[in-house]
Amino acid sequence: MECTTILNKPKKKFDTLEEAIVMAKKLNLQPQRIHKLVAYKCSKCFKYHIGSNGKLLEKNINIYNTTY
Ligand SMILES: [Zn+2]
Repeated sequence: MECTTILNKPKKKFDTLEEAIVMAKKLNLQPQRIHKLVAYKCSKCFKYHIGSNGKLLEKNINIYNTTY
C-alpha cells in the first residue's frame, strides 16, 4: 500500500529513521522552507516519512522580524 499526502501525492519512504532525519534536515535548510520538517515512523507502511509538524523554522521567524 502506497502512502499519500493530503494532496494525494505519494509520500517519500525511508527505510531507516536516520535516513529520514538526514533528509528532513537538508530540506529544512532550503531558503524557501517555512515550516519545520520532521521524520516520523508511519503506522500504515511501517517505513519512515518526512512531514511538517506545523512549527515554523526559527530562521524564518527571524526573517519575519527583520525588514530588508
Ligand atoms: Zn507510510
